[in-house]
Amino acid sequence: MNNVFMNTYNRLPVTFSKGEGSWLFDINGKKYLDLGSGIAVNCLGHNYPPLVKAVSQQAAKFLHVCNYYTSDVSAEFAEKLVQAAAPAGMKNVFLANSGAEANEGACKLARKYSLLKYGPGRHTIVTLRGSFHGRTITTLAATGQDKFHKDFGPFTEGFLHIPGNDIDALEKALDSKKVAGLLLEAIQGESGIIPQRSEFIAAAAKLCAERDILLIFDEIQTGIGRTGTFLALEQYKDADGKPLKADIVTLAKGIAGGIPAGAFLAGEKTSSVLVAGDHGSTFGGNPVAAAAGLVVLKTVNDPTFLAEISRKGEALIASLKQNPKVKEVRGKGLMIGLDIEKEAWPVLKAGITRAENKDCGLLILSAGVNTLRLLPQYFISDSEIKQGLDIISELID
Ligand SMILES: *Cc1c(COP(=O)(O)O)cnc(C)c1O
Repeated sequence: MNNVFMNTYNRLPVTFSKGEGSWLFDINGKKYLDLGSGIAVNCLGHNYPPLVKAVSQQAAKFLHVCNYYTSDVSAEFAEKLVQAAAPAGMKNVFLANSGAEANEGACKLARKYSLLKYGPGRHTIVTLRGSFHGRTITTLAATGQDKFHKDFGPFTEGFLHIPGNDIDALEKALDSKKVAGLLLEAIQGESGIIPQRSEFIAAAAKLCAERDILLIFDEIQTGIGRTGTFLALEQYKDADGKPLKADIVTLAKGIAGGIPAGAFLAGEKTSSVLVAGDHGSTFGGNPVAAAAGLVVLKTVNDPTFLAEISRKGEALIASLKQNPKVKEVRGKGLMIGLDIEKEAWPVLKAGITRAENKDCGLLILSAGVNTLRLLPQYFISDSEIKQGLDIISELID
């Protein structure tokens, strides 16, 4: 059956047919503790009743209207999303379907802002080495990892990669005659859960503000509560010690709990740059995705709920740090990377085969050669965390 797929994924030998909370079940009925959530997508777990209900009820009304119109549910979703991102300075939103599309839209918005204000030639977008921004030709150009760049050129022009956490390199790169925006992840996900230091983020905010370069946060993996605040950038301060504001924020992955969706949001400077005809998407704002997204926002954007994500994350990180086989632990909230001595991929495989002769299998992710990545669903229980930690110890021993 699998050879009808293009050979684009290095797949593990398991086929799933149902899920429940933190658990997935394969076609033979074996169960697996899911600590990856489909790469931060199933943030409320599998088969979460309110999400199932919202999606089914919307499906029974209508599945889609085109963007000649709007729908009650997508309008409410957009409103709640802008409200949730208001502490970061966001004013309005464009609804898309995926992360790459959200970042593409953000780049278009940044370029038009700069063009209107400064004329042609000031279109470069600076990004960080080790970043991941998507798989389209433009978002690959933005992605600062060479391994993704072979075979697919020529890429979209106007992207410059600099090392992260390097204020000198940043200062040199942010040339106000050529640069329209700085696009970054507060914590790089794909390349190994690599956080940017607070001093670097504060310097970035200051340099961008002084030069009118747009500060763009890719919160596709870090957003929607993943790090214990609705957006990860809320945990940083600007150079004056005030809460950090962004000019553009992109979201996807967990935004609709498992239904494909993405978004880019604009702040004060950028909210009226795009006008009718500038951008569009057939599926963007899809009512079923919006209905799912509303459940996610209502559940996650709550201080008590977010505090629980932080608490569980801290407990996980503290236990992992005590494991002598774990070389380093990084991350915030329920976005955690751990460096191990062995290669990560065989550990992922062992997590699958464990289901054959033990009580259950384990689903974890990798991020780089020697890093395991944990992105569990937000309702994960303390006993499931304990079970996960025990299995991780067993697998890396
Ligand atoms: C996953 C991811 C993307 C790309 O999202 P897709 O929905 O796969 O296009 C972009 N940026 C970051 C930080 C991501 O984690």
